[in-house]
Amino acid sequence: MKKDFIFNDISKLKGVGPQLSRYLKKKKIEKVKDIILSLPYSETDRSKLYKLNELEVGKIQTVKAIVKKLSFPRIRNLPNRIICEDETGKINIVYFNSREGYLRKLFPLNEWVIISGKVNYFNKNYQITNPDYVTTLDNKEYVVKNIPKYNLTKGINEKKYRSISEQVINQIPAINDWLDENYISKHNLLSWNESIDKLHKSKDGKDNSSKSFRRLVFDELCANFFTLSENRNRIKKNKLAKKFSEEQSIIIKKKLPFNLTKSQEKVLNEINDDLCGKKRMFRIIQGDVGSGKTIVSLLAISNVIESGYQCALMGPTEILAKQHFELAKKIYKDTNFKINFLTGKTEIKDRKEILKNLESGKTNLIIGTHALFQKKIYFKKLGLAIIDEQHKFGVKQRSELAKKGGNNCDVLLMSATPIPRTMMMSLYGDMDISKITEKPANRKKINTISKPEKKINELWPYIKKQIFNQNQIFWVCPLIKESSFLDFSSAKKKFDLIDKKFPNQVGLIHGALDKNDKEIVLKKFLNKEISILVSTTVIEVGIDFPNANLIVIENANKFGLAQLHQLRGRVGRGKNQGTCILLFKDGLSKNAIKRIKILKNSDDGFYIAEEDLKLRGFGDLIGYQQSGVKNFRFADPVVHEDLFKLAEKYVLSNEININQDKYSFLLKLFDRAEIINIEEV
Ligand code: ADP
Ligand code: MG
Repeated sequence: MKKDFIFNDISKLKGVGPQLSRYLKKKKIEKVKDIILSLPYSETDRSKLYKLNELEVGKIQTVKAIVKKLSFPRIRNLPNRIICEDETGKINIVYFNSREGYLRKLFPLNEWVIISGKVNYFNKNYQITNPDYVTTLDNKEYVVKNIPKYNLTKGINEKKYRSISEQVINQIPAINDWLDENYISKHNLLSWNESIDKLHKSKDGKDNSSKSFRRLVFDELCANFFTLSENRNRIKKNKLAKKFSEEQSIIIKKKLPFNLTKSQEKVLNEINDDLCGKKRMFRIIQGDVGSGKTIVSLLAISNVIESGYQCALMGPTEILAKQHFELAKKIYKDTNFKINFLTGKTEIKDRKEILKNLESGKTNLIIGTHALFQKKIYFKKLGLAIIDEQHKFGVKQRSELAKKGGNNCDVLLMSATPIPRTMMMSLYGDMDISKITEKPANRKKINTISKPEKKINELWPYIKKQIFNQNQIFWVCPLIKESSFLDFSSAKKKFDLIDKKFPNQVGLIHGALDKNDKEIVLKKFLNKEISILVSTTVIEVGIDFPNANLIVIENANKFGLAQLHQLRGRVGRGKNQGTCILLFKDGLSKNAIKRIKILKNSDDGFYIAEEDLKLRGFGDLIGYQQSGVKNFRFADPVVHEDLFKLAEKYVLSNEININQDKYSFLLKLFDRAEIINIEEV
């Protein structure tokens, strides 16, 4: 089929030899489609022919001149030189490392040629060194115009790449557009073929709001959403419905020192409905930090155990998993549930015993880290797998995860990363979403204060008082991304300073510390052996330190709003008022001031995430890097918000069979095909 051309290896193109092909592949241009999707970032204006007395040094210009003389010095290191003229002046064209025969052909003596390149001045003469283009007059149209500029570094020149990309663009067969004409015109888009052509041959390629660019964005979004919806279809297969009376969970609820919020109740009901349903659950609980996701999951677990199945609860770190384990033991104290704890560090002897009990079905609930999902672990009857704080899971991992539990295993994820509405579909389109939208009523709003860093000395008496009152303090140093050493040294300095003021009261964790040492320090803090925890890395997500009331964040403008909100959520979880102090360097930008204001005035993680998205773009939002959203090449949730909505609507309202040719074309184009080609679940 003709359109296979688009998915051919680039080495099949004319003019692409092994060396060039290796070079292009290094730049991730492997297939013809990659050339199609590598848009020019700008154009060079070569459209005007300049007289030789109109030249400007440093500019790229195009001239028309007669070849007057060619000189090929036989002395090494001296360049070859061609002297050209027009009626107004003279110019030297200089070549290093070009062969005489080639140049004689390119510059026929006494004939007019077109030369385009960067003008410089040397030995009192205008000069162009290694011009980008030289051509005869009859081929003028090829050069004298706006020429697209592609992102290239050394190793390939513009002329060469252009010849390849033009070859490709002109050879693209007419595609059976997956979007029908009516839809295209109704939504002010363009056909696929037309938009690709325009993107390469006009300024559209660098204008992300042009019609043709928007068409590409729409395609990219749909490719992504189709993938997610396919993933969903594959996961949400039939299962045996779970049967339970909620007997245990009602008793547990009654014994809690608090009432569930309405939101928690609602989410728990959604989960219970799924558990009793005939399709596998694949759901995520989204709830701001401190909204109380854990207890909801524990209540769901008790129902699943009651129905005769086993459960697994996984936390991202050992310390968090341990915290869940301790809580579970407390919550299920009056039940006969058998609960085990398993991590990579569990002693072999214990591990063997635990694995045996999982396999025999004696263990009802296993809590632990990633170790839970290793190959050699067999469950007798796993009915529910819960993963906490896993906003970082990509689509593919999610799908693999869903496979692990087997056909009757429901899957529940929990995440505290607030996701702006626009991004919800891109991130979690394959899952059902339950939102905990309110915080426990007794929770006080965290007092957020900003302070210039130079007034840091005003803090010490305040901190002293906090320690005296047996409160605990987080001190967050900014992350210096470039170097974990610099990171460490800035945090270490701060540690030394604080340690001097409050001897034996301070602990330090930083990126270079290994997991064990980190957990030792965290445990000390948890056990109140120290009062202040200085850290660089974002403090372990999800850990509940009810005794921490103050968080100081240095250089706070280095963090995104959503991230500051998450950090702030580490405090004020107990009965005392939480305080967050943001330290800033002097001279804050207007934008920075706006950001502080948002944070001071709002307590709503979703609202903050939306604002953060608007102010900083999505690249910086936490949790996005690994989430797969970064895989968007063209779509930007801020610029293309309307298209996100449109694509979502399209996907939800159309029956799409991804095996149909035109759809599989789309998925292949955006590298989504592999993601869903994974084995059936
Ligand atoms: P997160 O959603 O961030 O995981 P947790 O589940 O760790 O939050 O809960 C934070 C704290 O709030 C815990 O100490 C928990 O006992 C408490 N909590 C949970 N639900 C409620 C509620 N409805 N009322 C009061 N406190 C609650
Ligand atoms: Mg949590």
